[in-house]
Amino acid sequence: MAVVKANAYGHGAVEIAQTLIRHGVVRLAVFSIEEGIALRQAGITVSIVILGPIFREQLEDLFAHRLTPVVSDPSTLTALGQCAAKGSSPYPIHLKIDTGMGRLGLTQKELETILAKHTFPSSLRLEGLMSHLADSDGLDPDSTNQQITRFERAITAISEEGFSVPMIHLSNSAGIVRFPSAHYSLVRPGIMLYGYHTLPHTAQAPDLRPVLSLTTRIAQLRLIQPGDTVSYNRTFMAKRPTRIAVLPIGYSYGLNRQLSNRGHVLVQERRAPIVGRVCMDMVMIDVTMIPSVTVGDEVVLIGQQANERITADNLAEWTGTISYEVLCAISPQIPRLYRSA
Ligand SMILES: *Cc1c(COP(=O)(O)O)cnc(C)c1O
Repeated sequence: MAVVKANAYGHGAVEIAQTLIRHGVVRLAVFSIEEGIALRQAGITVSIVILGPIFREQLEDLFAHRLTPVVSDPSTLTALGQCAAKGSSPYPIHLKIDTGMGRLGLTQKELETILAKHTFPSSLRLEGLMSHLADSDGLDPDSTNQQITRFERAITAISEEGFSVPMIHLSNSAGIVRFPSAHYSLVRPGIMLYGYHTLPHTAQAPDLRPVLSLTTRIAQLRLIQPGDTVSYNRTFMAKRPTRIAVLPIGYSYGLNRQLSNRGHVLVQERRAPIVGRVCMDMVMIDVTMIPSVTVGDEVVLIGQQANERITADNLAEWTGTISYEVLCAISPQIPRLYRSA
C-alpha cells in the first residue's frame, strides 16, 4: 500500500500514483477524502484507502468515489453501516486499532465489544485490520515490540470471532526495514518511496536515492559594499565588497524562513551561503567566491551538482525539522517536471 498523502510527500500525487501503478502497485493510501477524490478525478482506479478521519457529511462522497475508509471509532462504524445498507454488496472497510501511537484507533476493549455484540454491520466487509507504529525509527525497539504484541492480540480476537481479514498491515518505512517479522499481508511505505529514511545510525539502512530535486535560477546579480545590508531587518551586513544573487523562491514556495542566514545552495558546482532573511518569494545568496556566475544560472536547493549534494535531510537539519516536512512543504505552485527513470 503505497502512501501518497500530502501530495505524495510534495512530489505530486497524481504523477507519483500513476508511476507506482505502472510499476505494479495496486493499492494507494492518502489522508483525506479530498485527496482520494482528486486521484479518482485524474483517472486512477486502483483501491484507495483513506487513512484520516471521516466526517458524517463526507460519507456520500466516500461511496460515490469508491474510497476505502479506515474506521477508528465505533460511531463511524455504525454511520458507515447505515449508509452502506443502500448498496447492493458489502462495502470494504479497514479497522484501525491503537496499539500505542495515541492518535487514531479503537482500543482493544472497543474492538472486543464490536465483535462480541455482533455490532459489525452486515452491509460492511472487514477487508483490513491495521495499526500504526509510534517509534519504529527510534533507537530502542522495545515499544515497537510491545505494539506488535498488542496488534497480535487484536488479530487473535478477530479470528476467534470468525472474521477472516485478508489485509493485515502495521509497518511504515522504518518498520518495514527494522521489523521484518511484522510485515503481515501489506506494508505501508511512505518516505522510503521518495528516497529517504529516518533510521537510527545503528540500523542497516537500505540504499535509497532521493527522487526529487528542487531548483531555481539566478534572477539578478548585484555588487554591494562594506556596510550595505541585505533583506528585511538588515540581518546581513557586508564586511567586504560582496556579490549578491537574487533567487525567485521564498517561504511561500516552501523555503523555510529558518534558513535566513543559514544553510547553502549550489551554483556552478559550488556552495553559496544564504544571506539575510528569506522573503515571501525571494531569497539572496552570496556568490562572491564564485565569480563566473551569471543571471539565469541554475541554483540547486535540493539535489546534486557534480560532487556537491544537498538533501532534504540537510535542509531539515538547518531548520530543526525532518525530511518529511521539508518535502511536503514544497508548494504545489512550483511546477513539477517528471523524468522517466
Ligand atoms: C504516513 C503514514 C505511513 C507512512 O509513513 P512513512 O514513515 O512515511 O513510511 C504509514 N501509515 C500511516 C497510517 C501513515 O499515516
